[in-house]
Amino acid sequence: MSRCPICQLEIPARMLLCLTHWSLVPFPLREPVQYFARTRKGGPSHRKACRQAIDAVEKILEARQKEIEAKAAPKPVRETTLPYRDD
Ligand SMILES: [Zn+2]
Repeated sequence: MSRCPICQLEIPARMLLCLTHWSLVPFPLREPVQYFARTRKGGPSHRKACRQAIDAVEKILEARQKEIEAKAAPKPVRETTLPYRDD
């Protein structure tokens, strides 16, 4: 068994990520991971492909998190400008 590098869920050693996170890997990045896993497992090209896939998922999760936070955060109170000088 190995672990999903993102959520630490236990996964079969042949998998890079758990299914939830693998499903977030953009298709163009999935193919090299699978291809190099068959042909050059553990080699620099395989590791690079894995790294890129994981980075992509982390970016997606980060963007989602920001979106959630932006929605949850109270709207900044706009400073009201007085139509006259108040000093
Ligand atoms: Zn995961």
